[in-house]
Amino acid sequence: MATGFTRTASGVLMCDGVSLEAIASAVGTPAYVYSARAIREQYDSLDRALAPVPHRLHYSMKANANLAVLRVLREQGAGVDIVSGGELYRALHAGFGADAIVFSGVGKSPGELREALAAGILMFNVESMFELEQLNEIAGEMGRRAPIALRVNPEVQVSTPHHYTRTGERGNKFGIPYDEALDAARCALELPNIALRGLDMHIGSQVFELEPYRDGLVRLLALHDQIRALGATEIRYLDIGGGFAVTYEDEQPMDVDALAGALLPGIRQSGLSLITEPGRFIVGNAGVLLARVMHRKKAGGKEYIITDAGMNDLVRPSHYHAYHAVEAVQAREERSVVDVVGPVCESGDFFALDREVEDVEAGELIVVRTTGAYGYVMSFNYNSRPRVAEVLVDGDRFAVVTRRERYEDLVRLEPDHLDWSTG
Ligand SMILES: *Cc1c(COP(=O)(O)O)cnc(C)c1O
Repeated sequence: MATGFTRTASGVLMCDGVSLEAIASAVGTPAYVYSARAIREQYDSLDRALAPVPHRLHYSMKANANLAVLRVLREQGAGVDIVSGGELYRALHAGFGADAIVFSGVGKSPGELREALAAGILMFNVESMFELEQLNEIAGEMGRRAPIALRVNPEVQVSTPHHYTRTGERGNKFGIPYDEALDAARCALELPNIALRGLDMHIGSQVFELEPYRDGLVRLLALHDQIRALGATEIRYLDIGGGFAVTYEDEQPMDVDALAGALLPGIRQSGLSLITEPGRFIVGNAGVLLARVMHRKKAGGKEYIITDAGMNDLVRPSHYHAYHAVEAVQAREERSVVDVVGPVCESGDFFALDREVEDVEAGELIVVRTTGAYGYVMSFNYNSRPRVAEVLVDGDRFAVVTRRERYEDLVRLEPDHLDWSTG
């Protein structure tokens, strides 16, 4: 698993050829730091594993939507998987061709459907009968034929660390229930402004096991046979979604060669092109949140390390009770059991609880590991905290790829003089 973060002989954490101390001095803290090399290596490992069949990786850009990160992946040959009009805008801005874009999501608005039709994207992953009919109508108004895949809920058992990230079990909001999928396909084939191009699933996030993918694929291929028997001639794509696990603590990441071994024979036999939508797998381990220790504090028999980063900068520990390793940039021998917390006025503001952590002192740097995915993109301004900077390291160079927000940015959208209307 490529991470891009290694220690020198004297115990200083580097991101490829750049010291994190140097980044902190130049850019300030907190900041997200990403390794372009690690992103490329993760992409390539999956791309190579799937090479025996026609395939494309559509990077799920909700994991990390930074333009510079998107451009690294575009140069590797990736497409993207988007879930909003805002992501469509970003993807086009980063230089992706419309034919490199698939559009997922359980609640696409009419405006978003129109924008994506106008752009001419590769495929809509349609999640309901309502969406299918709405898309047919809008496409008709625009004189277009909308290319779609049906997102089917394969109703397989998935174990992920948190139930919020399970999406392919019976009875959740995602996808068309398996036993309604054939009817949906029949309907798609009859609608004049819909072109049924594929079948799609996405079973969850941070999935370790092969079985749910293999079981889901079997169900999708069975459905494909039934739909072909209805006379469908345009189905070309089989989209297995994303969700491949990475290492946060000591988990085995998804073994992409084993995944390929489990899936490719069936896909090859079907003659379909494979689409995957990896997000976390590509960027998760390639990023850290770099923060400075503000002080240590003892209270109520506990010890706290208070950092300048807070839950608004990285919400995963608080929102999913997710584990993230916390390490000193300059390694230290001595350790204590502490809570690592932020400055936000709320007790859910933590990165680690009752964790043995190196004895970092006020002013020293720490990193919160494996925050390249679902880190910055989930950050927010609570407590009027400006959003942090993002930095991309490529070899021995680094660049700020998102500037730190300034106080002016916090009030930019709020007019000083109100323009009242009546209604
Ligand atoms: C979030 C999401 C993904 C990516 O999930 P990861 O766990 O980051 O790989 C892929 N497809 C869809 C439809 C998603 O919603």
